[in-house]
Order: sequence, then structure tokens, then C-alpha cells
Amino acid sequence: MQPKPNIVHLPVYQPGKPVDDVKRELGLTEVLKLASNENPFGSSPKVKEAIARELENISIYPDGAAIELTNALAKYHGVNADQIIFGAGSDEVILMTARAFLVPGDETIMADQTFPIYKHNAQVENAVIVEVPLKEGTHDLPAMLERVTDKTKIIWVCNPNNPTGTINTAVEVEAFLFKVPSNVLVVLDEAYCEYVDDPSFPDGIQLLNKYPNVILLRTFSKIYGLASMRIGYGIGRADVIRSINQVREPFNTSRFGQAAAVAALQDEEFVAFCREENKKGLAYFNRSFVELGLQAFPAYGNFIMVDVQRPGQEVFEALLRKGIIIRAGHKLYPNYIRITVGNQEQNEKVIAALTTVLQEIAVKV
Ligand SMILES: *Cc1c(COP(=O)(O)O)cnc(C)c1O
Repeated sequence: MQPKPNIVHLPVYQPGKPVDDVKRELGLTEVLKLASNENPFGSSPKVKEAIARELENISIYPDGAAIELTNALAKYHGVNADQIIFGAGSDEVILMTARAFLVPGDETIMADQTFPIYKHNAQVENAVIVEVPLKEGTHDLPAMLERVTDKTKIIWVCNPNNPTGTINTAVEVEAFLFKVPSNVLVVLDEAYCEYVDDPSFPDGIQLLNKYPNVILLRTFSKIYGLASMRIGYGIGRADVIRSINQVREPFNTSRFGQAAAVAALQDEEFVAFCREENKKGLAYFNRSFVELGLQAFPAYGNFIMVDVQRPGQEVFEALLRKGIIIRAGHKLYPNYIRITVGNQEQNEKVIAALTTVLQEIAVKV
């Protein structure tokens, strides 16, 4: 049996190491995972109640159109219900967007160090990947614009960017959108936008109203703390959303995911709490890195990428032996690690461990 030739070289996604594996392998009882940008405060208590209420319906298919959640979000964002599509995480919205729009030979533009799921799905569709170098860890939008040809179908912009954590400002994004041809779809992945309180950050919904070739991606996995529920969404012009809906599996989000998201959306206090705590955590990390003589990219999400001046992989392994899981192995930033912002106790633990580890490993620049 021959799989599609364009998928045989694709790597299988390597997730952040699971806590239980690390405990078993290293014989540790306590392991701290700050590797997958999960919410250290869990999720709203209202979510658990909503899920409990759904338990009696386990045997009943979910509402494939997610009507209740669609209406709640339409109201929340001030858009029409036909402008929203749900996926099993925004990962699936990325997959469906690639599936709906890319044919073999189409060109698709993305940063050279960004969320890997864009490239992966574009490769599955046999599109031509055009990677544009980040500039100081930030999307170089003018350079991306220069790479547009009449074959370009989709441009992916991750804002804040994962893994660097940097943002593009509203001024930058608008100047870019103004020049992108209207037949090119621009996917603005805003998985972490709820964490950003910088006034220069764009208002995605406003952009959407002005530039109809934009689709926004949002998720309940990050600030809402529903990563295991697998629910994310796209917002776009009705005809774009309809095209994506045409390739969607009928029951792609679960009853629990939908109910959890409705409840999570209502608990604004929880979201505000997470945003504030995250801000404190970032400030603590930034202060600590200055004390350690390390430079980090300006961080706007719930994670921070720092230059540890040594192979990130070695620092990763040394921290792992102390029971702390972070992320390393970023191909363009071999001397960097990415740390998810935890709660204060967790943040202090990782900084204490990092301080020790940096003394054990020689500087290599
Ligand atoms: C986490 C993340 C997502 C999506 O996560 P889902 O759990 O699939 O919703 C999308 N984009 C970026 C940049 C992310 O970091």
C-alpha cells in the first residue's frame, strides 16, 4: 500500500512530554510541566458543572452545528452566526482551512519559526511552502508580502507568535492587510489574544470587518483552560466559513466541549484572573532573566522564549532530570527554551532549577 507521496516524509507530531512518562522514567513523584501552554489555574468551576450536566447524554450525538455555542460567541464578538466555525481545537480549523482551500501547487506563506500545524497541513495538501524568516522573533510582514505571487492562496500569521511570544501591532497588520490581494486568504491565529493587554495589539474582529479575506482563529484551550475538551473556532466572512464547513466532519466537536465552552465564556472573572496572574508571571520571569543575564523575546502570551546561551536541548534535559518539563529543540533558535507561565510557586521552581542548571552547563554561543 502506498500512502500519498507528499506525506511519507512528514514527522509525527511530538507533543510536550507527558507528566506520567517523566515520573515513571525518572522515578520522580513530582513533575512540573510548563511545556504546552496549558492553564496553570485549570478551568472555571462553572465548566465542571456544565460537563456534569451533560453526562446523562453521553450516548446522544452532539449538535453538529453547535448552535448554542455559536449563538453565544456571535453575541460575544458581535458577528453573525454564519461567520463562525468550530473545530476539535483550532488545530482542526487549520486542517479544514487547508483542506478547503489548498490544491497541489498552491503557494502558502508562513514564518520560518511558527506554529508547526500550518506547514504540516499544507504539506498534506501538497501545497508549496514559502517560509519567511522571522525578524527579531517577530513576523516580518513586509517580507511576507513580497513573497506573494499569483499562486499564493493562504498566508498564516500567528499573533502572538508561538514559540517566540512576540506580537505584530495593529499598525503593522493593517499595513499588511491593505496590500494583500483580496483573493489571498490571511489566517490570523490569535490563540493567545486574550492574554494580550498591549494597546498596540490589533482588534481582530475590527480587521475582519474591514478585510473580508481574513479569518481569525481562536481557541478555548489556552486562557479558558479547556485544552482536553478540544474546542476552537474560526471567524470569517460567511462564504469563507461556508467553504470550510463543507469539509467539516458532521460531529467534530463533542457535547462536552460545546457545553464547557458555553460555560467558560460566561465566566469573565476567571479569564480576568488568569490574565492578571499571567502578567505577574511574565514580569517575574523577565526580572529573573535580567538577574541571570539572559535575554528573552518580548512575551505577550502565556509563555516566554529565552536565550539560555547554551544548547536548549541540554538545558531541557537537565531540567527534566529535576522534574521540570519545558520546550526546546526550536530549529532556528537552538540556544533558546520556551517556558509556559505557571502559577507563582511553579514559576519560582523553574527559575530556581534553571539557575542551578545554568551553573552546570558551560556557555556556548
Ligand atoms: C495552542 C495553539 C493552537 C490551538 O490549540 P487547540 O488546542 O487545537 O485549539 C493554535 N494556534 C497556536 C499558535 C497555538 O499555540
